[in-house]
Amino acid sequence: MFGRAPKKSDNTKYYEVLGVAKSASQDELKKAYRKAAIKNHPDKGGDPEKFKELAQAYEVLSDPEKREIYDQYGEDALKEGMGGGGGGSHNPFDIFESFFGGGGFGGGGSSRGRRQKQGEDVVHTLKVSLEDLYNGTSKKLSLSRNVLCPKCKGKGSKSGASGRCHGCQGTGMKITTRQIGPGMIQQMQHVCPECRGSGETISEKDKCPQCKGNKITQEKKVLEVHVEKGMQHGQKIVFQGEADEAPDTITGDIVFVLQLKEHPKFKRKFDDLYVEHSLSLTEALCGFQFALTHLDGRQLLIKSNPGEIIKPGQHKAINDEGMPQYQRPFMKGRLYILFNVDFPEPGVLAPEQCRMLETILPPRPTSNRLSEMEVDDCEETTLHDVNIEEEMRRKQQQQQQEAYDEDDEPGMPRVQCAQQ
Ligand SMILES: [Zn+2]
Ligand SMILES: [Zn+2]
Repeated sequence: MFGRAPKKSDNTKYYEVLGVAKSASQDELKKAYRKAAIKNHPDKGGDPEKFKELAQAYEVLSDPEKREIYDQYGEDALKEGMGGGGGGSHNPFDIFESFFGGGGFGGGGSSRGRRQKQGEDVVHTLKVSLEDLYNGTSKKLSLSRNVLCPKCKGKGSKSGASGRCHGCQGTGMKITTRQIGPGMIQQMQHVCPECRGSGETISEKDKCPQCKGNKITQEKKVLEVHVEKGMQHGQKIVFQGEADEAPDTITGDIVFVLQLKEHPKFKRKFDDLYVEHSLSLTEALCGFQFALTHLDGRQLLIKSNPGEIIKPGQHKAINDEGMPQYQRPFMKGRLYILFNVDFPEPGVLAPEQCRMLETILPPRPTSNRLSEMEVDDCEETTLHDVNIEEEMRRKQQQQQQEAYDEDDEPGMPRVQCAQQ
C-alpha cells in the first residue's frame, strides 16, 4: 500500500466542490460549506453524493494539516492515511452535525441514534535526511493523546453503570419548540446539554475518581517510527488506531508524512542518485581518480579509463550505487556523476609549450586557416581584457545617474563623472 511513489494528483477538486478560491480563509470555507450543505442535505431532497463530496471537501480543507497535505499531494495522499481507505470513511452526517452543533433542520427529526463514529486521523510531517532514506533509521517521538480512562474503561463511573439522562430520556437529543407566529410553531432539535449527546448521566457519587466522569484521560506515548531503506519523500507511515480515543468512536490513525531535507551533495530521482564533480583540464585530458564519500560513509574510488578524455557536461554512471529500492533494499539504482571541467586561469603559454601541445591535441580546423593574402586584406584589431560583470554594473550606474540628472536639474550643465 505504501510502496508506490507518491504521484501528483488533483489538488483543486475540493476547492471547486465548495466553490472557493485556493486561497480561501477558514471563514470563507465555513460560509461556503454552510450554504452548500444546507442546500444539498438529503433530508431536504438534495443529492446524497453531492452532500458527501461537500462534507469530504470541508473536512479536509478545514483542517490546516490535512489542507497542507492536500495542497501538496492531492486527494490520494489523504486517502491512504484515512484508515479504511477508499476515500473519506467519515460519515458526512457527522461532519454536518458537528458543524451545526447537531439538530439540523427545524422539525427535521433526522435522529439516527448513537453509533460508532470514525475518529479523526492525526497527521504529522517527519523530516528525514537522504542518509536516513539510504540507510534506514528509526526515530522515537513522544506524543500525548487522549485515551479511554483505564480505571473505568471509558465508562466514567465506578460501578460501570450509568443512568439514563433525564434531560433527553436517553436519546441524546432535545427537542424544543417555540412560537414564531400566530399558529406557527417551530421545532428545533439540539444535542442535549446535560449529557452532551451521550444519553446517559453518572451520579456525582459514582463518578470515576481518575477521569471525574469524563471517560478519557491524557497519556504520554513514545512512538518508534521506522523509516525503511528506499522510502520516498511524501511517503506515509501509519500507526493504525493510535490517534485520540473517545467513547463510541473508532480511533483514527496517526500518520507521519516523510519530508526529505535537501542534501548538499547528492540529489535523488526515484531510485537514482546524482552528484556533480569538477575536474581540472589536465585531469579531463590525462585521467583522474578521486574518492567519493557515499551516504553510508563508504569511500568509492572513482577513476577514468586509461587514455579516456572527459568533456565538460558529460555524465557517467555507476551501477548499483544509487538508492536502495523500498522493500527490496538489495536492489539499487544507479549513481550518475556529472563532470564539470575547470580550465586553467587566463595566462600566457610559451611558444615551445604551444608547439608541444599542438603535437598532441587535434589539428586546428582548416576552415579557420587564412592565407597570407587574406590576412593582408583584413584590418588589424586589438583584444583587451575585460571584467564583464564590473563593466555592466558601471554602465547601469551611469545610466541611472544620467536619468537622475535630467529629472532634477534640467538647467544645470551636466558634469560627467571621470571614469577610472
Ligand atoms: Zn475513569
Ligand atoms: Zn441528555
